Amino acid sequence: MTTVAEEIRVAEFRRELGLESLIDVHTHFMPKRVLDKVWAYFDAAGPMIGREWPITYRADEDERVALLRGFGVSTFTSMLYPHKPAMAAWLNAWSREFAARTSGCLHTATFFPEPRAPGYVREALDAGAVIFKAHVQVGAYDPTDPLLDPVWGLLAEAGTPVVAHCGSGPVPGPYTGPEPIARVLARHPRLKLIVAHMGMPEYGAFLDLADRHEGVHLDTTMAFTDFVEEFTPFPPADRVRLADAADRILWGSDFPNIPYGYAHALDALTRLDLGDDWLRAVCHDNAARLFDRI
Ligand SMILES: [Zn+2]
Repeated sequence: MTTVAEEIRVAEFRRELGLESLIDVHTHFMPKRVLDKVWAYFDAAGPMIGREWPITYRADEDERVALLRGFGVSTFTSMLYPHKPAMAAWLNAWSREFAARTSGCLHTATFFPEPRAPGYVREALDAGAVIFKAHVQVGAYDPTDPLLDPVWGLLAEAGTPVVAHCGSGPVPGPYTGPEPIARVLARHPRLKLIVAHMGMPEYGAFLDLADRHEGVHLDTTMAFTDFVEEFTPFPPADRVRLADAADRILWGSDFPNIPYGYAHALDALTRLDLGDDWLRAVCHDNAARLFDRI
């Protein structure tokens, strides 16, 4: 589909639901040289990716922002994450500036287990960060690392959501899977955690976590699409649980790093057949509530 055809398809999706706009909690914007490296990694199908992954929306930053707006996305994020120490504070400075100059972008921040983490997380919160990203798979760190304990505490206390890639897809990391992050939640039960990618492939276990903890949400990022269903299908028996968790599921796309068009991921939600109320909650209302965007 051309970009124009995608825009028309997404506009139809919104019109059918009576939604003026979408809120996409999982979009990637980062400094150019970092994004170039990420794209090179995807191009090479690096070991954390595990398969061929052509990037659909490889374009300049301005164009990518315009594309999202063209899809009717009123609110989005700049998910960025370090894969090594001494990088997070610099990323946070960039994303703060990016959010300031990009209307609709929620001020996003990140962290890594290192002694300075509580300091720069506090600083990001004071500067107005409203969402954080933790990449347990790429960062290959233990979320229960004592260096992170004060960080989770700060986020829980502030009530600021953190999107965590903590599931074992597309390739497991040393600390992925529901157990390590469940231990974090046991220590910080008020933490507002958004499990990225519906926790794939451990979908059921992450839905269990959402059952146990009121603050646990899941983002739909890439889940239910043809690309993911081929290798890590969502268990049909758990579909009814998606209806039960209707107020905890948030639309996320992984834009621009997706190997299919934006509209396909929305169509993948529609074909779950969970109804218009569910789609409205997931694609707009839940995130509007979480981020005070009503
Ligand atoms: Zn992502």
